[in-house]
Amino acid sequence: MISYGKQSIISSDIDSVVSILKSDWLTQGPSVERFEDDLKKYFGSDYACAVSNGTAALHLAGLALDWGDGDVVLTSPLSFLSTANAIIYTGATPDFVDIDPVSYTIDLNQLEDKIKYYIYKNKKIKAIIGVDYAGHPCDWVSLKSLSEKYDIKLVNDNCHALGASLFNKKNYAIKHADIVIQSYHPVKHITTGEGGALMTNNLELADKVKKLRSHGMTKNSLELERKDGPWYYEMHEVGYNYRITDFQCGLGSAQLKRLDEFIIKRQKIAKKYSKKFSSKNNIIIPKTKRNYGHAFHLYPLQVDFNKIKKNKIQFFKLMKNAGILLQVHYFPIHLQPYYKKMFGFKVGDFPISEDFYKKEISLPIYPSLTDNDQGLVINSILKNLND
Ligand SMILES: *Cc1c(COP(=O)(O)O)cnc(C)c1O
Repeated sequence: MISYGKQSIISSDIDSVVSILKSDWLTQGPSVERFEDDLKKYFGSDYACAVSNGTAALHLAGLALDWGDGDVVLTSPLSFLSTANAIIYTGATPDFVDIDPVSYTIDLNQLEDKIKYYIYKNKKIKAIIGVDYAGHPCDWVSLKSLSEKYDIKLVNDNCHALGASLFNKKNYAIKHADIVIQSYHPVKHITTGEGGALMTNNLELADKVKKLRSHGMTKNSLELERKDGPWYYEMHEVGYNYRITDFQCGLGSAQLKRLDEFIIKRQKIAKKYSKKFSSKNNIIIPKTKRNYGHAFHLYPLQVDFNKIKKNKIQFFKLMKNAGILLQVHYFPIHLQPYYKKMFGFKVGDFPISEDFYKKEISLPIYPSLTDNDQGLVINSILKNLND
């Protein structure tokens, strides 16, 4: 079966993990810091904090930025659940802004309208989580200027966009957002099994995140109320166990060395899909706006199922019969039963995302996808569009 995403593990990855399994540290050892240093270097941040998964990273970002009761945090409905769930974890209220129909990322015009609406209602928008959907960066230049104009913090949910660029710069994420978060789940660009990280250029945020990652504990003598001895620690704020293990970080460091190669491969696959599909009727290929570099975590193809002779369920079934497991990213978060019930969202609130959901299929894209397998995918899609 060819699925939409898959990890690539080679002997250098395995050797890196095995050497750590044979060392003295399985967790809270030097490989975590080494991975964090590697992340800082690659993504250009001053600080990095590796954690147990991307969702934990989002949660810690919200805690570090002091989200809580009465705060509103905005994001787009076209993301994985955790982007919005993390807002709820902190006690803040999630709200959404629809996507731009070309980049599929948060629509900047609608965003400013929403900000003004909240100002009118005398409510504070605390932060915006920009999701670089599929690997296409948000319009971070405009996001940054809005954040300065209205004093709103920015988080980049960068889970899809490792290695993406803006004006040819791979450090675009940390340049524009207060905190950048990533996930290293096996379907993402690089993997640690489960895993994630936060990056920031703000020392205060970095310190806070590191403490909250491990129960809120501190041994920093400047912060201690008492000086009982070398065994002594204190807790001033409630934290979590969101740590990652050393052997996972060993895998992360080995994978990060291969990220450039992964991105080149993903871009090559995307280019071939786009070439084959761009002139066909009833489908829309993902576009890359000028000055943006797409990292292609996903290849989201839109199919107008109203215009072809089969519906999405039948299309999925025919593809599966050909050995291809498609996916859909995503059912809009605001239409999840919990979000409808708790926050009153309803069908029609964010029509671009809702329409996108009806049409979208995620095609297989991962570094080890062979030319042959991609050919099979392309032929099966074209056949099922036309039959
Ligand atoms: C994968 C993903 C997450 C969550 O990451 P986990 O490591 O699975 O917790 C959050 N946001 C987006 C956009 C993702 O793709």
